[in-house]
Amino acid sequence: MLKRLLDKLRPRTQRTDQPLVIPRDQHNVSRRDISQAALRIMKRLEDAGFQAFLVGGGVRDLLLGGHPKDFDVATDARPEQIKRLFRGARIIGRRFQIVHVRMGREIIEVTTFRGHHDQSRSEEGMLLRDNVYGTLETDAVRRDFTVNALYYTLNEFAIHDYTGGLEDLENRTLRIIGDPETRYKEDPVRMLRAVRFAAKLGFQIAPDTANPIYELGEMLHNVPPARLFEEVLKLFMAGSATATFNLLREYQLLGHLFPATEAALEAGNPLGLALIEETMANTDKRVRADKPVTPAFIYAALLWVPVVARSDQLVKDMPPQAAFQQAATEVIGHQLGHTAIPKRFLIPMREMWDMQHRLVQRRQPQRLVEHPRFRAAYDFLLLREAGGEKLDGAGSWWTRFQDVDEDTRQTMISDARRQGPKTRSRRRKRSGPKAQGDNTPSPTQG
Ligand code: ATP
Ligand code: MG
Repeated sequence: MLKRLLDKLRPRTQRTDQPLVIPRDQHNVSRRDISQAALRIMKRLEDAGFQAFLVGGGVRDLLLGGHPKDFDVATDARPEQIKRLFRGARIIGRRFQIVHVRMGREIIEVTTFRGHHDQSRSEEGMLLRDNVYGTLETDAVRRDFTVNALYYTLNEFAIHDYTGGLEDLENRTLRIIGDPETRYKEDPVRMLRAVRFAAKLGFQIAPDTANPIYELGEMLHNVPPARLFEEVLKLFMAGSATATFNLLREYQLLGHLFPATEAALEAGNPLGLALIEETMANTDKRVRADKPVTPAFIYAALLWVPVVARSDQLVKDMPPQAAFQQAATEVIGHQLGHTAIPKRFLIPMREMWDMQHRLVQRRQPQRLVEHPRFRAAYDFLLLREAGGEKLDGAGSWWTRFQDVDEDTRQTMISDARRQGPKTRSRRRKRSGPKAQGDNTPSPTQG
């Protein structure tokens, strides 16, 4: 329907300074689907004599018939002016100032129209500041993708399109606004956003938008690790982790975010890839079921492969447990140079890793089951097995152990103890050939 309408409203070729304006009776964005908080903020801005538009993912997802997770408002009011209008407003100063307006339980991001920036760029073309204010027109072309630059206004409830976003939406195409190379150089994170939106929306990335990514991907090394950590969360915790992971590899971006992971995968470790794929699929399932997911888990899976690979090298010169610990420390240290991992995720991740060995050994199971990290470590063990690692049936053993009564537990424990010598003799044979299909001899069998 939108397509026929577009054909009617303008010839297909041009992109002009005049927006395409779609009146209310010709689009499907309804006030009923927009957050009350966002509508009240827009109304109050307009009553105070400012312009106010809903923009970004909210408009895009509503046009696609989805349920937006948040709503962004763009206005010609300056941050200070916005702050004066709303009691619950806080100015957040990052690359450009935005205002968080709290209304009830919601926080709405309100941004002042951006203008054409000044000359504050790094040698590589990265924008150092982006805080020049502008008009609705300049704001539109400073946004990243055409489908993210559609504006909805309370004034007759029309949609304004300056960049051809509606047509791209209709064709399910993700297209960067302006010259792709320049825009990626200004902010390399846009390459990750391209992949994220393509995965989430199931859109094709337009060839001009896609092609420069292969070459410019390495510019991600100039982005602060803390910002990349935030982006990693958005990439993998928004319900499309599987598709996103595959596209990251396709566009050769994974290696710029997780170099050690990409290297281990390229070395042809099928079990590592399967573990990551299982984790991503599992994460998507949980997000869709509204169950909690933690970055600790995702990082644990992504970095497990290089840790095991490194541990296998180190174990030639030291005991398996020491090799595993040192490998974990090295891999984490290296990763922190690329993406941050806040302590609150780093610590649980290591605990999860450290418990793997004890889980496979089934040593002191009563105590292990009480460990605050048991559940996560056990889930991780199951994913490793689902990914094809042979762990001596440990997963189903623990599943059963949690399920049975005390007497049966005691029987299971003594059975496991009787198998103890087997484990010990395996340790002595460490320098011999690896158990077939087990790519993790050091952490799990030592
Ligand atoms: P979602 O919230 O569903 O992840 P979104 O499109 O709303 O998607 P946000 O990160 O919330 O994405 O950003 C809101 C809007 O701000 C975007 O739609 C885009 O117009 C603009 N924007 C965000 N990041 C950038 C960027 N790095 N460069 C240019 N414009 C950006
Ligand atoms: Mg948003």
